[in-house]
Amino acid sequence: MSSNRDIDNLIELMAKLPGLGPRSARRAVLHLIRKRALLLTPLADAMLRVAETARECLNCGNVGTSDICDICESEERATGELCVVEDVADLWAMERAGVFKGRYHVLGGTLSALDGVGPDELRIPRLKDRITAEGITEVILALNATVDGQTTAHYIADQLEAQVRLTSLAQGVPIGGELDYLDDGTITAALRARKEL
Ligand SMILES: [Zn+2]
Repeated sequence: MSSNRDIDNLIELMAKLPGLGPRSARRAVLHLIRKRALLLTPLADAMLRVAETARECLNCGNVGTSDICDICESEERATGELCVVEDVADLWAMERAGVFKGRYHVLGGTLSALDGVGPDELRIPRLKDRITAEGITEVILALNATVDGQTTAHYIADQLEAQVRLTSLAQGVPIGGELDYLDDGTITAALRARKEL
């Protein structure tokens, strides 16, 4: 490839990143080497810091640098609204839209009989505990509009019925679509048009 073992190694690692193949990885590495002071060194430092400190929030499953994430720590986010998402990327997508002021609960996937994922593999038991512990009055199910996402939403709705007001994202999320790929406006519209289950 580059005829240098260290550089080849870096290219191979970069090529494993989502959205990057070998060709993009080679271009990225070349760019990093040319921008050593501006990009490569700060990037390496930032990666080391995150490698040392990144962890999952024990409460909601978000990724941060402390045992309890900033959103769970913030009293301002204790609005009584809890938004349930499949993945941290979905939480970040919601935060980018900037319209939701409550807290989140990251399931860490969806129920899937095919892949052997049951309720205990997801953070569903913890979700039930949080409703009483944090005085949650509304649970917003912001799961992907896929078959597994909707199956999971119905399962959670069954589990929580009568305990709390249940809503789900409506208008805006395309069938088969994933939250992380939506633009901010679509996410905002979908959140505003949430409906009772
Ligand atoms: Zn948290």
